[in-house]
Formats: sequence, structure tokens, C-alpha cells
Amino acid sequence: MQRLWTELASSPRAALLLDYDGTLAPFHIDPAKARPYPGVEALLNRIGRLPNDRLIIVSGRSLRDLRPLLKLDFEPEMWGGHGRERRMPDGHQSSTPLSEGAVQALAEVDAWEGQARLLGGRVERKPGSLAFHWRGLAPAHQQALLQDFEARFTGLALASELFWHEFDGGIELRARGCDKGQVVSQVLAELDSQGGGCMAYLGDDHTDEDAFIALEGRGLRALVRPKWRTTAADVWLRPPEGLRAFLLRWVELREQHK
Ligand SMILES: [Mg+2]
Repeated sequence: MQRLWTELASSPRAALLLDYDGTLAPFHIDPAKARPYPGVEALLNRIGRLPNDRLIIVSGRSLRDLRPLLKLDFEPEMWGGHGRERRMPDGHQSSTPLSEGAVQALAEVDAWEGQARLLGGRVERKPGSLAFHWRGLAPAHQQALLQDFEARFTGLALASELFWHEFDGGIELRARGCDKGQVVSQVLAELDSQGGGCMAYLGDDHTDEDAFIALEGRGLRALVRPKWRTTAADVWLRPPEGLRAFLLRWVELREQHK
């Protein structure tokens, strides 16, 4: 961590990449109500005013769902769908198309919705993935859904087109071809083309591990979650205090720099 602060104090430019759910915002039974921890948006606004720093949100959510949740006085760069969608601060938006096989596989998985609803779960449709949520259901129902979907996934003809991913409160089936590691690689390449800069990535779950691995040796990787787990990250921040302290230190160092 000390190395990051030393580099950050003198770096001509910097990029701070942040996951949203579980990192900036605590989980909520209704994902549409998952708002950032108190004080976080004020710190992000200060970072947004730094002339040589990029603030980049990297989420598994669709951009459509993600944008209304962050109330900032500037437009940050945002990546949605685990890197499948990108929106620049000027509003320009682009996305990576799905393979034909992934489209077919996701269409089959979409039909599992009835089973999920039967036991009280729900489906979230995102660009390139489907997430089934069962946070808050009785443990027996959660277990039944998990086992049922595991069996369905094993029987899926085009399963190799998709990643199976379990998260806190559900599962997600995601088309191969995009992940958060590719986002990190892209931003690193852009920084390098400008002459280099300081970079950090903060995330909480297993999809963030791709980003941590891609950033190895090139920047600081921070795991943000209440409980530690095995990770490729360099440091562990406990939200919300550890997160706010990190953001505050970042902004204070960079405000002195500009
Ligand atoms: Mg997360």
C-alpha cells in the first residue's frame, strides 16, 4: 500500500477502477436499492474533479441498471456486463457482440425463470448474462434452486459457451469472451499509450479476481469485503471504514499533486 501512495504522489496520471456491488455499495435484497455507503459519493466527486485521474466503474450489472444508482456530479467512465458494455464520460457507448452459440445457450437458460419464480427467486437479464437471485429466501429453497440449476447446467448442450458463477445470493451464467480482466488490460494499454500512470482496482467477488490477475505487478489490487477470503489481491480493505480511508487518502494525495 505504501508503494501505491508514494507512486501516486508523483504520478502524472492515475486510474482508479472500482467494482460497484459489495465494493462501493452493500448488498440489498432489492438490487435496485443498493446505494453506496455513506460518504463514498462525496469522495468520488472529489476524485472526479482531479484533472489527470480517471475514475472507472466496472460492474457485472447492465449500464442501464447501474447508472441511476450512483448520484455523482460528473459522468464517470463505466463498464457494464463484466466488460461487455462501455460508456465514456462524453456519453459514447459501445458493446462487444455475443457469439451465436452464447445467444442460443442464454435463450435456453432464460427458460429456467419459471423454476426460479416457483421457489421465490427471480431472474436479472444483463448484456451477455443471466443472474438468478435468491437472497433472502429460506435456506432450503436456496439449496433446492442451486441443485436444480446445477443439474440443468450439466445437461445444457451449449454449456461450454457460458461461465457458471456463484455469488452471494445466487448464480450467474455469463457468456464467455468478456471479463473484468480484459477491462484492466484495456485501461492499462490506454495509460501506457499516454506515457504510463498509477492504477488501482478495488473489488469484492470472484469476478474481480480476473481483474486482480490482469493487474499483477502493474498496480494495487484491493479486496473489499467484510470477511477475508483467498484472493490474488495485494491488500484487504474492510468496508465501509477501510474503503473511505482509501478513497480519502487517494484524493488528498492527488489534490496536492494537481
Ligand atoms: Mg462486486
